Amino acid sequence: MFTKILIANRGEIACRVIKTARRMGIRTVAVYSEADANARHVRLADEAVLLGPAAARESYLVADKIVDACKRTGAQAVHPGYGFLSENADFAEALAAAGIAFIGPPAAAIRAMGSKSAAKKLMGAANVPLTPGYHGDDQSPALLHAEADAIGYPVLIKAAAGGGGKGMRLVERSADFLDALASCQREAISSFGDDHVLIEKYITRPRHIEIQVFADTQGNCVYLFERDCSVQRRHQKVLEEAPAPGMTPERRRQMGEAAVAAARAVGYVGAGTVEFIATNTYDKDGSFYFMEMNTRLQVEHPVTEMITGQDLVEWQLRVAAGEPLPLRQGQLEIRGHALEARIYAEDAGKGFLPATGRLIRLAPPAESLNVRVDTGIEEGDEITPHYDPMIAKLIVWDASRDAALARMRKALADYRVAGLTTNIDFLSRLVACPAFAGADLDTGLIERQKEFLFPAPQAVPRDVLLVATVGELLWEQRAAKAAAKTSGDPWSPWHARDGWRMNLTATRRIGFRAPKEAALAEDGETLHEAEVSYRDEQWAITLHGRTTQARGQKLDGDRFAVELDDRRLIASVVAVDDKRILFLQGATYTLLRDDPLHRVDAGDSHNGGLTAPMPGKVVALLAQPGQQVAKGTPLLILEAMKMEHTITAPAAGILKAFCYAAGEQVADGAALVEFEWTPS
Ligand code: ADP
Ligand code: ADP
Ligand code: MG
Repeated sequence: MFTKILIANRGEIACRVIKTARRMGIRTVAVYSEADANARHVRLADEAVLLGPAAARESYLVADKIVDACKRTGAQAVHPGYGFLSENADFAEALAAAGIAFIGPPAAAIRAMGSKSAAKKLMGAANVPLTPGYHGDDQSPALLHAEADAIGYPVLIKAAAGGGGKGMRLVERSADFLDALASCQREAISSFGDDHVLIEKYITRPRHIEIQVFADTQGNCVYLFERDCSVQRRHQKVLEEAPAPGMTPERRRQMGEAAVAAARAVGYVGAGTVEFIATNTYDKDGSFYFMEMNTRLQVEHPVTEMITGQDLVEWQLRVAAGEPLPLRQGQLEIRGHALEARIYAEDAGKGFLPATGRLIRLAPPAESLNVRVDTGIEEGDEITPHYDPMIAKLIVWDASRDAALARMRKALADYRVAGLTTNIDFLSRLVACPAFAGADLDTGLIERQKEFLFPAPQAVPRDVLLVATVGELLWEQRAAKAAAKTSGDPWSPWHARDGWRMNLTATRRIGFRAPKEAALAEDGETLHEAEVSYRDEQWAITLHGRTTQARGQKLDGDRFAVELDDRRLIASVVAVDDKRILFLQGATYTLLRDDPLHRVDAGDSHNGGLTAPMPGKVVALLAQPGQQVAKGTPLLILEAMKMEHTITAPAAGILKAFCYAAGEQVADGAALVEFEWTPS
């Protein structure tokens, strides 16, 4: 076995490989770009080598730099992960020439499967069932058009070198064929540098069923059953599961044997996946057809690991080191059911547009025997436009599909991410959607369930506003306590937040707005104001004309418990400036705290002064006493709740005097300035 390997990848898959290598006592070398200097995979590895600038073209995709890094560190083998150089035959050859093992198939097998049309020719010869279509070398538009007409519409035009769901065009009618062909070829050239296409019969309502295969250098080849990856957006997988719902043992054996035949036909070694498209009645008399073979470890390999109890990276390492497969076909069995959801930084409501930004909060669900989180990202990290916006893979396992689904719902509900848009709420709806729950699967599911998955924006629920109000009150209490500890007089009544004032029935307002861009913002920038009064250890919160008795208790981190009349809820909140990202019952809500300090109301002022809406410290005086000021002129800066707030003139007038000097503490409700209105 190797004693040191290099992982030519980043993110979750690099971390995943390091984990197994470490368990097997193999030392690991990470590689990284300038953008990843502090990335998790770099910190997990025993050593790391800088490749170059952030752009993958100048770092992760430069084969020479990786060969060089192996030589410098003495790594004996390279695990390519998926993506980047994993299906690059030249890279596999360059490693071989340098005497370094490639933890993947022989270069010839990568090449044979690299072109979808060449692969189909080989598969046809090996009696693997093929999607009806044309995969010949003649690429003249007239011939391709005639072939499409002969196949019968709808047809799919595919880039032979395509991947990642790119370079595909669905054509419904003969009249549209030539335009679609030209546009497909343009995309193929720009994405893959090769405009060779093939044409396939478009299977309606198909399932994507793929078979995990494994071969060693001794001539053994097995299949580790199937994965159903039918739930897709833009021909890319979103949710995967194993086994495929409704699969029969007979069909499983047929597909497994076809996949093994496919692997054998190209002299395959290592982990590979044979992708089939199946009619959605595949369990009875439905057909399945070869689509392509991915000559690497797939993103969704964990569901196979969960149902077989095998570590596929360990298998890869053993095979690459020349050992035989750990198990024979007859020793492999399926136990239970596993689901994987890909957690992406993307806006599902905006056509799954990738999102970027810093993960201010990243709290995945707790891992257990049933819940696994594969990730390369930690709180504080940034999702940049340089790489795939995947944050993590959430994998669950249980004895049955229903039980696994329940685990997935819970795990998604517990997942808390703040700082950028994610698909978590979308995934929650997806797993709750009756079609998915009922395993009525096909690749058009997301499109067909649009109404359920992308509900119309609604007003912010009253509960959410109540919980957010309690959150504000709790964090104010805490800040006041912290301030009391650091100030000289902890017993000063100004620090007592348990009722704000010494008189018992003070009333105040806490306001929120739903930001315009939020999905919930049907009410746009409407201000929701809660009127809060403190009575007998609880708050009476009047909102939208109704009063609710509330209590709250801060728990660990940003979690807190809220009692609303006779109900108890657990929520979390993350504050970023005036933004409040609230996690409640599995959904995420973004609210803007309407900061009273920015809208000091002249009506609140006694004796012509402006009052402090919360306790704090005057940090700077910005105007001159006696000065005539316009509405909005900054007068002073108050520091409260660990933030600075600028108090501005509520109207045109004369600043007569400041009531405090810079550095002085002020109490909630204290007059800050004497101000004389200039009547307009
Ligand atoms: P890629 O290399 O991008 O993964 P594939 O050939 O594997 O390309 O196809 C990706 C997806 O496109 C499939 O999972 C399936 O949803 C859809 N697809 C591919 N071929 C067909 C077909 N003949 N009929 C219907 N859908 C198809
Ligand atoms: P801890 O020390 O337990 O982490 P902090 O006082 O630092 O507690 O706050 C923890 C979290 O509380 C932070 O992530 C912050 O975003 C969040 N938080 C929630 N609501 C508020 C609020 N109204 N003001 C300030 N922080 C808040
Ligand atoms: Mg594919």
